[in-house]
Amino acid sequence: MNSHHIIRHTPPDSLWAASASPAPETAPLQGQQSASVVIIGGGYTGLSTALHLAEKGVNVIVLEAQEIGFGGSGRNVGLVNAGLWVSPDEVEATLGSTCGQRLNTQLAAAPDLVFSLIERFGIECEAVRNGTLHLSHSGLGDRALITRAQQLQQRGAPVELKDPATTARLTGTSAYRSSLFDPRAGTIQPLSYARGLAQAAQSLGARIYTGSAVTALSNTASGDWNVDTANGTVMANQVVIATNAYSEHLHKTLQQSFIPLYYFQYATHPLEPEQLKTILPEKHGCWDTRQVMSSIRLDRSGRLIIGSIGKVENTGNNFLQRWASHQLSKLFPDLFSRSEMSNSNDVWSHGWSGRIAFSNDHLPHLHSLAPGLTACIGYSGRGIGPGTMVGRSLADHLTGMPLDEMFIPVTQLKPITARRTREQYFARGADLYHLYQRII
Ligand SMILES: Cc1cc2nc3c(=O)[nH]c(=O)nc-3n(C[C@H](O)[C@H](O)[C@H](O)COP(=O)(O)OP(=O)(O)OC[C@H]3O[C@@H](n4cnc5c(N)ncnc54)[C@H](O)[C@@H]3O)c2cc1C
Repeated sequence: MNSHHIIRHTPPDSLWAASASPAPETAPLQGQQSASVVIIGGGYTGLSTALHLAEKGVNVIVLEAQEIGFGGSGRNVGLVNAGLWVSPDEVEATLGSTCGQRLNTQLAAAPDLVFSLIERFGIECEAVRNGTLHLSHSGLGDRALITRAQQLQQRGAPVELKDPATTARLTGTSAYRSSLFDPRAGTIQPLSYARGLAQAAQSLGARIYTGSAVTALSNTASGDWNVDTANGTVMANQVVIATNAYSEHLHKTLQQSFIPLYYFQYATHPLEPEQLKTILPEKHGCWDTRQVMSSIRLDRSGRLIIGSIGKVENTGNNFLQRWASHQLSKLFPDLFSRSEMSNSNDVWSHGWSGRIAFSNDHLPHLHSLAPGLTACIGYSGRGIGPGTMVGRSLADHLTGMPLDEMFIPVTQLKPITARRTREQYFARGADLYHLYQRII
C-alpha cells in the first residue's frame, strides 16, 4: 500500500490538520496563576471570548485540554453561514418573537464578524466569501428552500433561489433540483481560523494553555473560582465553560444537555484543472436538504471534500468511505465512473470525523450555572458564526452587560431524556441510510 492509501481518522491526521497554518506557541499550565476570567475550551467560543476580553484589557486565561481546535472547531466543514440550521420562523416560534428576532438579527451578521476578524487580524485560513448553496434533493427540498427563502427575504436577507440549470452549472452535477444561494456566507479552513483567533487573542495579551484539561472547579469563600488542572490551578472571578460537544467529566448535566452525533468527511487528492472547471467552479460551499444531510466543498488546493452524518471507524471495513465513493460517481458520473470508484482507495487522501452537540431544539443554549460560572453549548452543527458571535457577546457580558441582554436567551439547564437511546437511534439510522444509498 502506498502512503496515500492510508486513511487516518484522528484529527491530527485530518485534512485540516495536514494543511493548517502553524499553531501559536502554547504550553501546559504549571503552578498557581490568577486571572479575571478563565475560559475552559480552546475552540471558537472560548477563543473569541478571550480575544474580545483581551481587547478590552481584561486579564484572561484559556485552558484547553488538548490543543487549539481539537474539538468541532478544528474538524468542521468550514461553511461560514448566516443564521442557524433551524429556519428563522422556527427560531421565533421556539423563543418567542422578541428573543427570536434578536437572535435572528444578530446571527444574520455572523459571517460579517467572522470575515472582519479574519481581515483585521490577518488570519491565514483559506477564507473565500463567494456565498454558499443550500441544495435541494427532492420536491420536498424545493418547497423547504422556497419557504426558507421567503422567511429570509422578509427579514431583508439577500438570498436568491437558483433554478435547476444554474444549480447544475454552479455545482457541476444535475443531481440537485434547485438551490438557495446566500451571498453573505463563505468557507474557511476551520483549524486555521481557530489557530488564528488564538494567535490574535495572544497578541492582545490573553494567556492560552494547551494540554491543560480542567479536572475540577470549586468556589472559594470569597466567591472566586479555583480552576484545577493536573499541574496547575488558576484563581479567577469568572469562569466560562466553552467545551460544547467535547464536554466530558467536567459538568455532568451540561454533558447530558445535548445529543452527541458524529459527522465525517473524506477529502480527495487535489483534482485536475479540467475537473475543477466543472466541479464547484465558483468555489461555493454546499450542503443539502436531506434529513441525513451531506456537504460538498473544495479546499484551496482543489481537493473535493464530501461529508455526512456518521463516524469514520478505523475498522478496515470503511463503509462510509465506500458511500463517499459511490456518492462521487453519482454526482459526477463523467469524472468519476462507477467502475473506477469501485476500487477507490486512490481517490481519497484523508478521512476524519467530529462530534456535534445537538440540543433538543437545535438552538445554542446559554446557561448561568452559578454566580460567575457561565456556559454556552449545543450549537447543533452551526457554530462558526454563532460561536464567534457568542464569544464577542460573552466578553460584553463579562465586562458589565447584563446576561439577559445577550442575544441568546439564558435557559435552565436540563438533561435530555432518553439521550443514549436517541443517540443510538440517530447514529444507526444514518448508518443504515448510507448503506441503503450505496445500493440505489
Ligand atoms: C464535523 C463537523 C462539521 C461541522 N460543520 C460546520 C460548518 O460547516 N459550519 C458551522 O458553522 N459549524 C459547523 N460545525 C459546528 C462547529 O464546528 C461547532 O459548533 C463549533 O466548532 C463549536 O465551537 P466551540 O468553541 O463551542 O467548541 P469546540 O470547538 O468543540 O471546542 C471545545 C474545546 O473544549 C475542550 N475541552 C473539553 N473539555 C475540557 C476540559 N475539561 N478542560 C479544558 N478543555 C476542555 C476540547 O478539547 C475542545 O477543544 C460542525 C461540527 C462538526 C463536528
